[in-house]
Order: sequence, then C-alpha cells, then structure tokens
Amino acid sequence: DAKQEGRNTWNWYQCDRHRVTEEAVLLRHDLHTALQHEQFELYYQPIVEAVNGRIRGLEALIRWHHPERGMISPGVFIPLAEQTGQIIPLGRWILRHACQDAAAILAEGERVVPVAVNISSLQFRRDGFLADVKSALDDAGLPPELLQLEVTESVLLDGAERAIELINQLKAMGILVALDDFGTGFSSLSYLRDLPIHKVKIDRAFIHDIATSRSNAAIVQGIITMAHHLDLVVVAEGIEEQEQQQDLIRRNCDFLQGFYFAKPMPRDTVMALPDWLPVPIAL
Ligand code: C2E
Ligand code: MG
Ligand code: MG
Ligand code: MG
Repeated sequence: DAKQEGRNTWNWYQCDRHRVTEEAVLLRHDLHTALQHEQFELYYQPIVEAVNGRIRGLEALIRWHHPERGMISPGVFIPLAEQTGQIIPLGRWILRHACQDAAAILAEGERVVPVAVNISSLQFRRDGFLADVKSALDDAGLPPELLQLEVTESVLLDGAERAIELINQLKAMGILVALDDFGTGFSSLSYLRDLPIHKVKIDRAFIHDIATSRSNAAIVQGIITMAHHLDLVVVAEGIEEQEQQQDLIRRNCDFLQGFYFAKPMPRDTVMALPDWLPVPIAL
C-alpha cells in the first residue's frame, strides 16, 4: 500500500545518503595522504584570443590520481577539502606548483603567457594568503605579471570590503584577478562594478546552447557589453564547437576557452602546442 511504499522510498533515500556520506569520509581520509604521496598534478588548458586563436593564457586545473579509484574530479574533492580545511595546504601546493610550472614554461622559450590559478574563497580570505602568493612567486622566480588568480563571487561572503582590499593589494603587486563562473550563483551586476577585477569569465552553462537559446545568447551579449563598458576583459568558457566560437567572435568576446581548442593537459603536452589553436586540419 501507499504507506508501505512511502517507507520503502524513505529507506532507499536513507540508504543512498548513507553511501554518499561514507564515500566522502573515505575520500577525505585519502586526501590527507595524497599531498605527501604526490598524487596531485596540475593540468593546463589554453585560453585563446577569440579573433585569431592565439594562445594568450593557461588555466591551471588540478587532477588527483587516486591509487585505487583513478582520476577524481576537482569538482568532487575541492569541496571536500574545503569542508576539512585541507584546502589550505592543498591551495598552497597548487600556487607553488603553478608558479614553478609557469617559470619553466617561460624559461623554455617563446611562450610568454600568464598562468591563471583558481583560488578557493576560504584560501583567499585567510590571513597569510598574500604572503603565500608572494613566496610562491619569489621561490619560483616568476614575474607577478605572469600569475593571475581566478576567484568566484563567494569571496564576497563576508562583505565586499575585504575582497576589494585584497584584490587591490594583488593588483599593486602586479597580479590580475578574474571573476570566475559569472552568471551562476547569485551573480550581482554590482560585483562587476565594485570589485577591482580585470576579467570576467562567463560560465559555460550559458555558452553550450548559445546558438539555439535566445535567452542565453541575450545574457551572454549583455554580460559582454556591460563588462566592456566597465573596462573589463571577457572570457567565455566551455567552447566545444566552431559555431560557438563564431557566435562569440560576432558578440565581441575577447578570449575563449574550451575543448574545441584544447582540453586541460599535462604541462609538457601544453608546452609542445603550437601558438595558434585549433591546429589546422591540413598541415
Ligand atoms: P573552473 O575554474 O570553472 O574550470 C573550468 C572547468 O571546465 C574545468 O573543469 C575544465 O576542465 C572544464 N572545461 C573546460 N572547457 C570545457 C568544455 O569545452 N566543455 C566542458 N564540458 N568542460 C570544459 P575541472 O578541471 O573538472 O574543474 C572543475 C572546477 O574545479 C573548476 O571550475 C574549479 O572551480 C575547481 N578547480 C579546478 N582546479 C582547481 C584548483 O587548482 N584550485 C581550486 N581552488 N579549484 C579548482
Ligand atoms: Mg577557473
Ligand atoms: Mg569557471
Ligand atoms: Mg567552476
């Protein structure tokens, strides 16, 4: 009967929830040892100039090679690391390695492009963050102009003032900041006005159906136009098809990033890429 069925549903739900929690506990535990055992690696995804496909930047994206489970997505383990506070040592590791990689890419030769590092809000707002950034740059011998940081609007969680102050201090050091995933969450237009950022990255949720969704196309066009009036540079994330590339060029988007150009890849692979993407088919 209905009551019985309801109880079954409830049981299944409990069961599933229990499983998910158990999984998280196991992963949190494994995160502990992962740093010591060098199970993390930074991948890099090119960011290209929209009109010519020239590589103008690289975004560092962390990968966890779990000994038993294989590759685990940062979308899964970054939130767990945030819950436990492990994001602090992990974030420091990411900064240091990204700076070292950027210095190596620079030393290698012709490619002088900034490396963008994603910064968790917890890491960003913590005392000592600026000191961590500075020592990562110094130890790698990397010019600050070649490090950029990506933050999301959650840096505003306890008020805009501190975030504005921090971004200004970074700017004074020569480090530019991008607002990531714009358009999702609570994105307020006033953030674009108030935060001393350099760049806004439009979330790929608005990009994937830009050719068929009039409403998403309107939002994207609105963000681009407004950002330009505020002297911000615009990046569109998640370009997977040529049609999207062409659409965004028509809409005056400055930079593009997505699988259409290149997937995130190990440092040595990204270093071997040509300067323009996508590689023409008939070479
Ligand atoms: P994000 O910073 O917005 O990074 C972009 C994500 O979109 C990456 O996922 C990237 O692989 C993916 N992507 C790029 N182009 C395409 C495309 O054309 N199609 C599709 N479907 N996806 C595309 P990834 O590497 O799994 O990272 C997910 C999120 O995890 C990142 O979103 C960021 O919020 C977080 N994350 C990744 N690495 C780090 C890190 O080093 N530190 C911190 N704090 N967070 C990180
Ligand atoms: Mg990002
Ligand atoms: Mg993003
Ligand atoms: Mg994201």
